[in-house]
Amino acid sequence: MTWSFPAGFLFGAELRVHATFVLLLLWITVSSFLDGGVGAGLFDGLFVIALFASIVAHEIGHLWVARQYNVQAKRVTLLPIGGVPDADMVGDTPVQDIAIALAGPSVSLGLWIVLSIFESAPAPSNVFSTPNADTNYLHLLALANLYLALFNLLPAFPMDGGRILRALLVRNMVVDEANRIATMAGQFIGFGIGLWGLIDGTAGLVLVALFIFLSSTLASPVAVDRNPFEDISIPRSLLNTRFESLSIHDTIETAVAISGQTSQQDFPVFDEDRFIGFLTRDSLAVHMNQTGNRTEVGDYVTTNAPIVQHSSSIEDVRRALEEQDTRLAAVATATGDMIGYVTLEKIKEFQKANRERL
Ligand SMILES: [Zn+2]
Repeated sequence: MTWSFPAGFLFGAELRVHATFVLLLLWITVSSFLDGGVGAGLFDGLFVIALFASIVAHEIGHLWVARQYNVQAKRVTLLPIGGVPDADMVGDTPVQDIAIALAGPSVSLGLWIVLSIFESAPAPSNVFSTPNADTNYLHLLALANLYLALFNLLPAFPMDGGRILRALLVRNMVVDEANRIATMAGQFIGFGIGLWGLIDGTAGLVLVALFIFLSSTLASPVAVDRNPFEDISIPRSLLNTRFESLSIHDTIETAVAISGQTSQQDFPVFDEDRFIGFLTRDSLAVHMNQTGNRTEVGDYVTTNAPIVQHSSSIEDVRRALEEQDTRLAAVATATGDMIGYVTLEKIKEFQKANRERL
């Protein structure tokens, strides 16, 4: 149940109107009709329709810029506080995401400026309280567009500001962490606004808080998006399968010699057939210049290297490495035979290169 109905297409995206929009229209029209008669009812009904048009204009901003980047949203759902595009309206880069997110509020700010030029009456206290037939129509509409812009710029996912926040975060972390933080900011701000409304006794603020929560459920495919790397097992290209290994009884001198011949930096170390850990490039670098170093490799071997199965997801391997605070993992078959190893740098490089496309 989506509680929305189709209302045509916009730049190839299906426009859906959320039932709350119709309820708002009915509620405002009927209540002002009961309060102030036909004139008031008509005025406020028309106001909600103009608000609807303002939100469509805001969405046109998003969709037009998205189209410049060849990003096509399948669907946009209109709520009384703005539109919520589907999860698929994501650009190729964080910069594109920011441009797409900024486009809607820019249109709303533009409308605010234009409408403000045409209006002259004094400001009402709250645009979300039932408008009065004797307040200036254009002024109210100008304010509604200003609120639309500012409200959507709150760093609260799935608001536009939340999308900007996510795009900024995604440069420094994996997508699901950025999603989680942006969504948490959204819930925190929504809760704050709701609480403020309750304490202040302002029904409009409580309504806005409810709409934020409603938006976040509509956008939940993005908000709770699974980290795509959970589903990818270690790619062959990341796996070192051709390597020299050392015995714990080999000397550092031997390791340095092999490293010089093969340019291999890290060495898996075995005790008989049993994998023990790695002689790392860092540890090797420390002893590199001590020619004639006959210390056994076993004295310098790491013992915290995780052994992961070849079928493990790349994200599981990264987690295992970060938990052990180490950068090398041994990769083994289901029967326990070591087939290679993988480094944290390679995993991070792969994730960085692929996170935007997945
Ligand atoms: Zn927007």
